[in-house]
Parts: sequence; structure tokens; C-alpha cells
Amino acid sequence: MDFAFPPSDPISLPIAGTDKRFPVRRIYCVGKNYADHVAEMGGDIERSEPVFFTKAPETLVHSGADIPFPPHTDNLHYEVELVVAIGPPEINGGIFAYGVGIDMTRRDIQAKAKAKGGPWARAKNFHLSAPCSALTMADKVDLSSAHIVLRKNGDIVQHSALNKLIWSVDEIIAYLTKDMDLQAGDLIYTGTPAGVGPVTIGDELSGGIEGLERITVRFV
Ligand code: MN
Repeated sequence: MDFAFPPSDPISLPIAGTDKRFPVRRIYCVGKNYADHVAEMGGDIERSEPVFFTKAPETLVHSGADIPFPPHTDNLHYEVELVVAIGPPEINGGIFAYGVGIDMTRRDIQAKAKAKGGPWARAKNFHLSAPCSALTMADKVDLSSAHIVLRKNGDIVQHSALNKLIWSVDEIIAYLTKDMDLQAGDLIYTGTPAGVGPVTIGDELSGGIEGLERITVRFV
């Protein structure tokens, strides 16, 4: 292949306990997937079709990184989320690994987009908007009674049992498989529980789920 200029490096995430890396293809995100978060955003809690949007793989941030505060927002929000990493069907039935992600959101831009019925791309899919932990192979962890927690500067700001998901991991995968082109390498951010809120320069976010690697980032 003779490129006109050098292509970008492949995007990948570390896998705990191995030197191999997970090659990232697409990032799908689920909106409105915990009732308490739907309520805090003023939405209708009745279960309807799941809401999906995407982020570019280049928006990923590894744990330990300092993130320059993004431009054009006075209301940058955190949303801690279980991340599902899709692999080949022959490994763990296609659910390859899990991680902890933070779906960073320019809430002020999102509010304007919602009011106008416009796209969410600038609110969600901006540079360095997708922190994600190292991945843990799915057969190494049981998440059935796990909790998801986000700390800001050490204080708990989001906390939920994972089984409060409105759309389960299996249901999300079934829906995306029918509706989109879900393939090995895809990540799914599965939605956030209540407690979303703002960060400012100097804040540290640290998200965790029992049995998984942590995601910790700082805004500079
Ligand atoms: Mn989200």
C-alpha cells in the first residue's frame, strides 16, 4: 500500500495480565441506560428504544493521563460507565473483556443541541473525551453483583449497582448487532448512573468496578 502520507498509528488498549493489546475499531455509547440518571436529566423513565451515539477511537485516553481542559465549554461533565470490549465470537462468546470508562460530555453544548434537535457530535465526540481503563478478560471476572463508582478528588460522586442497567449488556449487543455493524475491536460505553457533574482544571477523576482495572485522569 502506497499512502500519500503516513497513516495514523492504530489505537489500542492494554489488557491486564498480558503483553497483548486490544485493537480498537469503533466506540459505541449508550445513552439513558440507568433510570436514576434519566430522571436527573429530566427524561422519561419508561423503557423505550435504546439511545446510541459514537465516539472516534482517537478520543480514547489511557489511565494516568493528564487531559488538557477542552475548549468551548463552561460545563464539562463526567459520566462513569462500564465498557464492554467485543472480540471474535470464539472467545468468551464475543464478550472479550471489560473496562471502566468515562464518557466526558460538554453538557452546555449538548443542552443547546438538544434544544435545537441538532447532533451531539460536538458535545460528546471531542478530542480526549473517552478515558478508558486497561481491559480485563471477561472470563477473569464476575460482574453480576459488582458496583460502579466514580470519585472526584477522592469523594464519591457516582455510585450504582451494575445490575441497574435498563438495557443489559446482552441486550445492547443484540441490538447493535442487528442495527449496526458490531465487530471484534469495538468498545461499548454502556451508559452512566446518576450523579453526573462538572470538572474543572486541577480535578482528578478515578472510576472503578470490583474486579476491573481503574481509570484515573486529571484535568490540567
Ligand atoms: Mn454516557
